[in-house]
Amino acid sequence: MEIISPEFGADIRRYSPIRIDKVALAGNGSRRFDLSFFHAAYPEGVQDKVYSIQTIQRSDHFLIGQVVGTQRLVFFLALSDTWLNQHFDDHSLNYLRGLQKTSGPDPQDRYIACLLGGAIGDALGASVEFMSRDEIIDRFGPSGIRDYAEAYGGKGKITDDTQMTLFTAEGLLRGQMRGVSKGVTDFGHTVANAYLRWLATQGYDSGAVKTDRDGWLFQQRRLHNQRAPGMTCLSALRDYSGLPGIAGNDSKGCGGVMRVAPVGLFWWSFKRNVDVQRVFKEGCLCAGLTHGHPSGYLSGGALSVMIFELLNGQTLREALDTAKAILAAHLGHEETLTALDKAIELSQSDIPHDIAIRELGEGWVAEEALAISVYCALVSETFEQGIVLAVNHDGDSDSTGTITGSILGVMLGTGAIPQRWLEPLELREVIEAVASDLWTCQKWQTFMDDDRLWDRYPGH
Ligand SMILES: [Mg+2]
Repeated sequence: MEIISPEFGADIRRYSPIRIDKVALAGNGSRRFDLSFFHAAYPEGVQDKVYSIQTIQRSDHFLIGQVVGTQRLVFFLALSDTWLNQHFDDHSLNYLRGLQKTSGPDPQDRYIACLLGGAIGDALGASVEFMSRDEIIDRFGPSGIRDYAEAYGGKGKITDDTQMTLFTAEGLLRGQMRGVSKGVTDFGHTVANAYLRWLATQGYDSGAVKTDRDGWLFQQRRLHNQRAPGMTCLSALRDYSGLPGIAGNDSKGCGGVMRVAPVGLFWWSFKRNVDVQRVFKEGCLCAGLTHGHPSGYLSGGALSVMIFELLNGQTLREALDTAKAILAAHLGHEETLTALDKAIELSQSDIPHDIAIRELGEGWVAEEALAISVYCALVSETFEQGIVLAVNHDGDSDSTGTITGSILGVMLGTGAIPQRWLEPLELREVIEAVASDLWTCQKWQTFMDDDRLWDRYPGH
């Protein structure tokens, strides 16, 4: 919304922002928006409005809708940092950033939504991972699977994608604990050790390296279940030498990229001291510990950067552009970059979603899984639509569900996640706790004396 007023000068336009505090489905395709208004001419603000709005048209940058029951049209622009810098003068930017600091959306909610969203996509895809789209439709009807079906002895069960995502987070948190308590840390080392603990939950040991089986996450007995673990992850971890680095195999399975969303979350907690290039590098390392082909680990770097930049306020298209620019500077980037470009191109076409997804592949390999997920997130108006698209295809449904759920979760927050998917979700409270720890770990202090936290995430 903009205000043009003589008091600002004849040629100066001042914009008056609306902050969207909460979005919830309101039936018949409409959404209930809780809004706060900050009129430039009225610093006290006219706040706390609630509207139900029917979407008329939507893109990455704007939404046009109609207020339900009226003729009034509304026009929302996404206030990303890039957009703000283009349209606001310094004075207005300072005013806006002051507002963001005091009353911005809660990042912790977006962290929780990122990991819950990934786990929900994983759980919805779990029962159809090895089914073609035709088989899915034969069994679940023309709309495909939309509710949890029986898999691994129940409904809402998570698979190796979520298990390994949680251990990625554990490795980063234990690395942080080591840093604040001992003054030096190596995240490659602590994440690799966390993956070895995951390997132990699957009933296997690494040949050369013994890792401590301590910490809170390993004690969660419901994680000690085999849920179709990736063979590359198992074999690379059994062969792990003890020196963290890119694995010696040539695998580009999606087992690396599917588990790295916590990298973007963790490093955003320290964003003041972190360059996005570092986020890319750390994402590549976490995926590359088991997947040695460039597409297998560069896709992990790209997803980590996207999660980081979405938290920074970029739109998905902007976050993709940032990730692509960094990706393009790395050796072996071609397959991943081509797959992402194809996803963007298809998202702007009139090709039906199921055919577009088929053109992107089946998602068993990393660049395809990332591209399918990016496509699903780009074309979806809601969390639910994106997840349903991401699992109802020929390929690796739980992994594309996981990645899509992470992206849409961090974009939309927990308010966008349907209750019917949240309530039965296995390990929901563990997932929420780990996500919260990824946010609050920024407050861990050097030389702190907190046995409870140390027991939870021992710093080694
Ligand atoms: Mg899986």
